Amino acid sequence: MTSLPRRNPDLRRKLIIQQAEKLLKDEGLEELGIDPKALADRHDILVEAKPDTAPGVSGMLMHVNTSFGIKYATHIDNEGFQRFSISHELGHYFLEGHPEHLFSGGAMVHTSQAGFASADPFEREADYFASGLLMPSGPFERALKREQEGLGAILSLGGQCKCSLTATAIRYADLTADAAAVIISQGAQVEFAFLSEAMKGLGGIVWPRKGSSLPARSLTAKLNTDAARVRAADRDEGDVDLSDWLSGSSVMGAEEVIGLGTYGKTLTVLTTRNIRDATYGDDDDDEEDLVESWTPRFKR
Ligand SMILES: [Zn+2]
Repeated sequence: MTSLPRRNPDLRRKLIIQQAEKLLKDEGLEELGIDPKALADRHDILVEAKPDTAPGVSGMLMHVNTSFGIKYATHIDNEGFQRFSISHELGHYFLEGHPEHLFSGGAMVHTSQAGFASADPFEREADYFASGLLMPSGPFERALKREQEGLGAILSLGGQCKCSLTATAIRYADLTADAAAVIISQGAQVEFAFLSEAMKGLGGIVWPRKGSSLPARSLTAKLNTDAARVRAADRDEGDVDLSDWLSGSSVMGAEEVIGLGTYGKTLTVLTTRNIRDATYGDDDDDEEDLVESWTPRFKR
């Protein structure tokens, strides 16, 4: 991918997502619920389940002579994660420069950690590609317009795209016109957060960073103290002052939270109707920093 700028990670992410979307257009795949196996099949790439992968391995891309094959891990029994894993390997196949890099020096197998678990730029790029392939912006935004804002929209879109809630929530923050923040947390700490453009318009906010503490009185902090509720995908919702989460001025909104099951983490969605007319900021340094510090894992 020498033709893409490496110094601007957010621009690079956008360009990679666009490459996935262009592939979908070229293939005539304009609906949500893309089947990455069928796409692989069209390109004569054999896809097989591999139940005995090492911990942390999401899948593999193999290159033998002129043939390519994908194996995907099944230790996480979640269709969304497996589809994301296959799409990640397709990213390695389709993205310019990836096969050359991964199979240089006669290597025949590349082992992947899909789901933003790796700091390796090639792994990240394959993850971005997977996001764009499974959640292309046009159809995703059209589907979003038919939904209410917040967790309900994410649950519905996750079902339509057959993607994990975490992956869908990140894409939702990327593409919604509403003021929204999505936060993944575990115990008393934030794992990562993503803010929509409209939410970024809120003045004086501080982004919740990895390792920062959850607001002590939040519904999220309360849910996280009960592992059984997290495992059972229990939900809660209520009013919230956004400044409890984001600092800045006091703005009332809604906090919705859901346990992410055996994954052991929770998803929080903050929304507000009170800053609807906020200026839509252009890409700024905050966003770039956030992409840099972005380490979610898409296991559910
Ligand atoms: Zn990989």
